[in-house]
Parts: sequence; C-alpha cells; structure tokens
Amino acid sequence: NLRIVLASRPVGPPSPDNFRIEQAPVPSPGEGQVLLKILYLSLDPYMRGRMSAAKSYAAPVEIGQVMEGGTVAEVLESRHPGYSPGDLVLSHSGWQTHALSDGAGLRKLDPAQAPVTTALGVLGMPGFTAYAGLLTIGQPKPGETVVVAAASGPVGATVGQIAKIKGARAVGIAGGPEKCALVRDAFGFDAVIDHRSPTFAEELRAACPDGIDVYFENVGGKVWEAVFPLLNPFARIPVCGLIAQYNATGPFEGPDRLPVLMRDVLTKSLTIRGFIQREFQAQRPAFYREMAQWIAEGRVRYKEDIVLGLENAPEAFIGLLEGRNFGKLIVQIA
Ligand code: NDP
Repeated sequence: NLRIVLASRPVGPPSPDNFRIEQAPVPSPGEGQVLLKILYLSLDPYMRGRMSAAKSYAAPVEIGQVMEGGTVAEVLESRHPGYSPGDLVLSHSGWQTHALSDGAGLRKLDPAQAPVTTALGVLGMPGFTAYAGLLTIGQPKPGETVVVAAASGPVGATVGQIAKIKGARAVGIAGGPEKCALVRDAFGFDAVIDHRSPTFAEELRAACPDGIDVYFENVGGKVWEAVFPLLNPFARIPVCGLIAQYNATGPFEGPDRLPVLMRDVLTKSLTIRGFIQREFQAQRPAFYREMAQWIAEGRVRYKEDIVLGLENAPEAFIGLLEGRNFGKLIVQIA
C-alpha cells in the first residue's frame, strides 16, 4: 500500500516537503469490511484547509496521517454482505492505493451510466456544490446576469451552464486564453474575461452592461473587487470559495473595505450567504436526476484533467491552488 501522508503544515503555499510518501502493507478486511483498490483520487481546493490547524468547518488532517480525499475504487475482497469483488464504488479513502471500508459512505457506481471519474466532478461533490449553491442561494431568473470565476473548473463550469439552462446570461472569469476559449466555446458562456488581463475590471464591466444579479463567489481577491461595484439591487452572492486567499498568511493587505461593503448590503439589499455543500444533502437525489439528464442532453459539459500516478499528487495539488490545472483535477492511481 503506497500512501501520502501530511509531513508538516504549510505556511503560505504548500510545497512538496509538506508531503511524505510511505509504503505500508496492504491491509486485510475484517468481518463486515471490504478491501478497496483505489483507481482515481480527486484533488480539491478544500484540502488546503485540511493541511492547516486553523479552526474550520472540518477537522484538520493530523501530521503523519494519510491526506484526505474523495476516491473511486474497486472492491478487491469483500466480507461485507452488500459488496462483491469487482464492484466500483465512490469512497473517501484519501491519498493511497488501498484502503479498508465498513461500507459507511460508500456509493456503488455504474460505469454503463457515466464514466466513473464523473463521480468526483460534474456528477459528484463539485457538481453538487454548483447545483445547490446556485439554485438555492443564487436563484437565477431568465434574463439576469450570473458571474462566476474559476469558470473552467468543475464548480464554475457547472454554475455557468446551469445558469444558461435557467435562462440567465452567464459571464465566466478564467486564467489565460486556453481556459477562456474552453469556457466560451465548449461550455457556451455568453462572455468570458481573463482575470490576468491588465484591463480585467473594465472588461468585466463591459461584459455586464446590465450589472450583475448573481455572483457565485469562488475566488475572492481582485475578482471580488471588480465584481462588487457592478452588483445590482437585490443581487445574490452565494459564497462558495475564496481560493485567492487560501495560501494567505497574516493580516490581509489594503484598506478596510468593510464599511463600504455593509453600506451596499444595506442600500442595495444584497444577499451574501456562505455555504458548505453538505448542508444541502437533501437535494442530492434531485441533483443526480437532473444533472444526469442535462449531461445526456448535452446541456452540461465538463472537462477533466487526469494526472498519472499517486506520487504526482502533491505537485498536482500545489498547481491547483495556482491555476495550473485545466478542468476537474483527478489522479489516476491504478
Ligand atoms: P478548480 O478546478 O476550478 O480549481 C481552482 C481554480 O481557481 C484554479 O484552476 C484557478 O483557475 C482558480 N484560481 C486560483 N487562484 C486564483 C486567484 N487568485 N484568482 C482567480 N482565480 C484563481 O476548483 P473547483 O471547481 O474544485 O473549486 C472552485 C471553488 O469552489 C474553490 O474556491 C473551492 O474551494 C470551492 N468549493 C466550495 C465548496 C463548498 O461546499 N463551499 C465545495 C467545493 C468547492 P483560473 O486559472 O481560471 O484562475
């Protein structure tokens, strides 16, 4: 069993020496357990939070513990009545090649229905985040303008395409011409802006002539600063992620903008609401039903970025926080 553990906690951006690769014996399943061979590991921005000891919505990974993560696995041996060797499952087995499970949290996957990797992306946690956050908090209406950044990634791409399905205008923000082309041409956004452009804020304003009704917040930082003055009265802002500040250390730079923010919350009747996708669990069945249909109809498309080999997971994860991934980042292990 090859596994990657947290060797030390990063200060600022994570580096390869925060991780350690270890060899351990493949465990044997006890009564009621299955032995899983991990096929695919999902890499997600939230893992940066788990590397840190700062108080958050979930407990950190301890030093020396296997890094946490969603996985697609094959049952190798089963002493559990519900599973047989060869079954494919979604599990939360972390950064390793083999794991035991007592069945809690496992979900069987049918490769005839959808490629199994989609259970980590568009038909999994990130797709559900987009669906629940946009529809419950964002509530896009026909003709409204919806803006989302990290628009080539699994959350942002899905947000924009659902906004289109609901009759809204989708404006994406992404880093670099290749990502922008994908967002416009493959995902069908009405406009896309490169946040690395020196005239980013002006280009965003020009792309939103009627202002912004829904801003699905994935990044924070200078994207939020460009969006804020464009918000319309009664705009909704689901706060999903703040990836621009996940590697930040110490106090944030710049003047205190809180009074200006609060003034606009009041005078424009803004709704700003943070969420963690798990709180919307009750919507999971509706999500699977609707999303599978949208994918089948070609109304929701997705891009995956598959990296080969568990040993390459740390480098790929470090790159995710810098925008070096191109689509849903997945490590193929077996
Ligand atoms: P992505 O695959 O889109 O990867 C993250 C992307 O963020 C990068 O590729 C990069 O894209 C962009 N990015 C990184 N730094 C910056 C920056 N400083 N400014 C602008 N963009 C930046 O990730 P996901 O789709 O998996 O996740 C998107 C967001 O959703 C994250 O913030 C994540 O934490 C959050 N999330 C929240 C959940 C919840 O329950 N609240 C659940 C799942 C995800 P580019 O090159 O285009 O800039």
